[in-house]
Amino acid sequence: MATKQFKAESKRLLDLMINSIYTNKEIFLRELISNASDAIDKSYYRSLVDENVTFNKEDFYIRITADKEKRTLTITDTGIGMTKDELENNLGTIAKSGSLAFKNENEAKEGVDIIGQFGVGFYSAFMVSEDVVVKSRSINSDEAYKWESKGVEGYEIEECEKNEVGTEITLKIKANTEDENYDKYLEEYTLKELIKKYSDFIKYPIKMMVKKSRVKAGMEDKEDKDKEYEDYFEDETLNSMVPIWRKNKNELKQEDYDQFYMDKHFGWEKPLKTIHSSVEGAVSYTTLLFVPAKAPFDFYTKEFKKGLELYSNGVLIMEKCEDLLPDYFAFVQGLVDSADLSLNISRELLQHDRQLKFIAKKIKEKIKNELLSMLKKDRENYEKFYESFGRQLKYGVYSDFGSNKDVLQDLLLFYSSTEKKLVSLDEYVTRMKEDQKFIYYAAGENIDKIDKLPQTELVKDKGYEILYFTDDVDEFAIKMLMKYKEKEFKSVSSKDLGFEADEKESKKETEENKELFDFMKDTLKDKVKEVRASNRLKTHPVCLSNDGELSIEMEKVLKMMSDSQNVKADKILEINTNHEMFAAIKKAFEEDKDKLKMYSNLLYNQALLIEGLPVEDPVQFANDVCQLIK
Ligand code: ADP
Ligand code: MG
Repeated sequence: MATKQFKAESKRLLDLMINSIYTNKEIFLRELISNASDAIDKSYYRSLVDENVTFNKEDFYIRITADKEKRTLTITDTGIGMTKDELENNLGTIAKSGSLAFKNENEAKEGVDIIGQFGVGFYSAFMVSEDVVVKSRSINSDEAYKWESKGVEGYEIEECEKNEVGTEITLKIKANTEDENYDKYLEEYTLKELIKKYSDFIKYPIKMMVKKSRVKAGMEDKEDKDKEYEDYFEDETLNSMVPIWRKNKNELKQEDYDQFYMDKHFGWEKPLKTIHSSVEGAVSYTTLLFVPAKAPFDFYTKEFKKGLELYSNGVLIMEKCEDLLPDYFAFVQGLVDSADLSLNISRELLQHDRQLKFIAKKIKEKIKNELLSMLKKDRENYEKFYESFGRQLKYGVYSDFGSNKDVLQDLLLFYSSTEKKLVSLDEYVTRMKEDQKFIYYAAGENIDKIDKLPQTELVKDKGYEILYFTDDVDEFAIKMLMKYKEKEFKSVSSKDLGFEADEKESKKETEENKELFDFMKDTLKDKVKEVRASNRLKTHPVCLSNDGELSIEMEKVLKMMSDSQNVKADKILEINTNHEMFAAIKKAFEEDKDKLKMYSNLLYNQALLIEGLPVEDPVQFANDVCQLIK
């Protein structure tokens, strides 16, 4: 019997499989089962169009048999089968392998996991086998044929005995090597696990004789310790066949979803929100998505990997498909199933990609709309959600140069000075006073500290609402947003607050005391950009404000991140000229310049402390205070 050669391309792919250092060898089982399922699909289709063919549900199944002694694993199906020509053409050739081309192009790039991503088909059997035998009888033929190959050398085809229509694939499992355990593919436990993991939702039963244990006959009534047991085998269907997401929503209760969520280990507590939807159209797909109640412990670290499970018609193609979720929705768990995505390597890769992109875009919109409706209709849960994942949304606004702000801005919440709770930007803007030009915010460590900031006094006095920013990322995100509904954001610490009358007043005061303020500025050197009379202070003596884009809070964050010394906000020391200490300052200016120098330093340090910034020279500061007490 002459050995036939594989076509050149197939040979290369086969070579890739055999010598694969690919760690995920276990997927071969998924591939063979999905082929078996496809073959049964074809029989089913045949029964629809050909009245001579009947389709009895019970007759269609896939069977797995492992023989440890012979080291064989057999996958049998009762599908459409293959003729001699089909064996030759389907298994001897890989028509045009899109992913092979992709793999070659990307050979240089490390970690391109093409095998795991697009399915590898029949040849994946060679990752775990030293010999593959396919016996098949086609629905169109009375003869059966055997195809056999040990790898790249080629394959042989000859007639064989097989009574039933269908295909039987027998793998001679490789011997264990130093770094690879192949024995496990003969273990009942592993096989069950793999089928649960990858093929649970195959439409036809996947059967296996499973070893069980029972009390020997006649010993049922004995005491437990005296009972004797025996092993026996029982046929078991290993897959659950109908995936929850394929069921009708009306048949399902929230508990069913919750159970599925837990089974999948998507999270430890019940999900906050479940989104189950099917879309028919240019690309048809079903999604089952969950918003977890709490962030996983590693969520805000580099360790966390986002992604959704990706199924092609019930067959798992990828456990974490990153491309389906934007980073800002990284917290979403769940899956996508689409019959329009091909499992196979040989189909057009580009198209595949485009469909995936399309689905990803739709998913993004869906999540956004669901979150918005939760914000409107289920505020309590939304706030819970926001507590866990609000930061991620704000990072989302900030990253990618603000390109996602339209998606995200309506989902943001901040604590409000007047409402004493979280409010949305929309709520803020709707409430704005007639004469109010800006959306005011104040940044600081926590709500209590911000509430006491001197800089908030004037804005509060005018009766305007202030948003409190307590997350590092808040101000950065807002700088990216710039405006919301045409209203600009303004920090209560920014140089110009937009109150013209007050500004005029303080300008006048600054002019009148020009020499004094200049003297203070000279004393403080480049620690501050300017010393001036304040218009924002009511009861407090001093505060810092800032000029330019970089605020004092942002300076703190940046310093923490990079400990680079050169990021500095332009600080302005503002003095409350209505405060009684100002009289003392004036007096010192006229009578004792050294004293004014000390006062200047003290006031500056005091302003730093209020901001939560460290005093630059604590020893000097302490000495100055003692000097004052004397
Ligand atoms: P794909 O399944 O994407 O077509 P594969 O490499 O997995 O690619 O399989 C190649 C072809 O071999 C299939 O398209 C099918 O025609 C044939 N085939 C494989 N396994 C079976 C089977 N169990 N029964 C019938 N035909 C099969
Ligand atoms: Mg296949």
